[in-house]
Amino acid sequence: MNIAVLGAQWGDEGKGKIVDLLTPHFGVVARYQGGHNAGHTVYVNGKKFVLHLIPSGILHAGVRCVIGNGVVVDPQALFAEIDELAALGIEVGDRLLISEKAHLILPYHRELDVLSEARRGERKIGTTSRGIGPAYEDKIGRRGIRVCDLVDTQALADEVRENVHARNQIIRDTKMDWRAVYEQLLAQGERMRRWTGDVSLALDQAMRAGHRILIEGAQGTMLDIDHGTYPYVTSSNASIGGACTGLGIPPRAVHGVLGVAKAYTTRVGEGPLPTELTGEMGERLRESGQEYGASTGRPRRCGWYDAVAVRYAVRVNGIDALALTKLDVLDGLERVDICTGYAVGDRTLTEFPADLNTVGPCTPIYESWPGWSSPTKGVTRFEQLPTEARRYIARLEEVSGVPMAVVSTGSDRGETIIREDTLAGRWFPQGSVRLA
Ligand code: GDP
Repeated sequence: MNIAVLGAQWGDEGKGKIVDLLTPHFGVVARYQGGHNAGHTVYVNGKKFVLHLIPSGILHAGVRCVIGNGVVVDPQALFAEIDELAALGIEVGDRLLISEKAHLILPYHRELDVLSEARRGERKIGTTSRGIGPAYEDKIGRRGIRVCDLVDTQALADEVRENVHARNQIIRDTKMDWRAVYEQLLAQGERMRRWTGDVSLALDQAMRAGHRILIEGAQGTMLDIDHGTYPYVTSSNASIGGACTGLGIPPRAVHGVLGVAKAYTTRVGEGPLPTELTGEMGERLRESGQEYGASTGRPRRCGWYDAVAVRYAVRVNGIDALALTKLDVLDGLERVDICTGYAVGDRTLTEFPADLNTVGPCTPIYESWPGWSSPTKGVTRFEQLPTEARRYIARLEEVSGVPMAVVSTGSDRGETIIREDTLAGRWFPQGSVRLA
């Protein structure tokens, strides 16, 4: 049974921990979109390590990791990660497969990203400036360079020359030499070759051989290029549709969707965040939750759980169950609020609007629930949670429309509740998720 694990909010939901926890149940972990703007924090022998591009499944012996055609690959970032892993004693070996159809991030994409943000001024998106957006622009503009193009041919030379020429027209104060870019690409292609191949075919073969695939999303549904808060979004489909197009697998290969949502809401970068708390409470959530970007260190904006947004993500992705993370961050609060709708003038919205001019002026409608004084931190059994925390989760299930199959009560893998009376019991047979 193949399961997709994806973000049900604005990214940073804690997908890394959930994916890491579930990985031993799968033969393959496959990423379908985004680039090295994702940041999964993992600990290897007590050392903090952030994986940006390679699925964290690489830390599990015997698990194959796949980077699909929907991902944009920065060869420098890829090699840096492979080298860092090697320094920690983890050999990628033949366990990594990168789609030959994946598009590349080139040096001029990073520059164009920075320039595009500067030009937008006040309306900037808040990108990670890693060239991801411009690489996707070139893909859609049909001038992108793919992994399989990295061979010494006239076609590649022409493409690089034209692209660098176009870049030199836009950025006039420095000129880039296309031959240097071309030579670098050939060298990178050479090194990358052993890891590249036909991902769609490999996944089909893996499934036929009886292996389960964990399909790993980056960012979150509200940052999806089509279904998120456009234009304050990422440049790819983080929602479930991206899994099929970004890996070359049919919809019937996705047997279940596990959404990941924090017990509150965060967002990094610009754009609407209806439940944002700008005062003391926002600061409290940021500090307790250590809400600073894993890739950029930027402080995240924080707010209460937005059930309108999560319900929307449940619908768009067909989420069967949620993994609720960071419950412990709410420990000790007198009350916890849940946003169930938005007031706009004299209207009440219960569906997330497309038009940002509507989202902007909306006021969240809150229900206030009693907080809990005894800690949830580290709790591993649902019954052992304080009554108020259980009531809060039950209410989140009602307003979100799906069960909370996993509840995370700390960053360690052991600090997790697997609710076997929910779908989790079917997906991950009894007692089989090792928490230690
Ligand atoms: P991702 O991009 O969705 O994987 O999320 P990030 O890695 O950016 O953020 C997750 C951060 O929260 C990591 O530092 C995790 O160690 C941490 N984390 C995950 N689950 C929990 C939890 O239940 N409680 C606490 N306190 N931290 C958690």
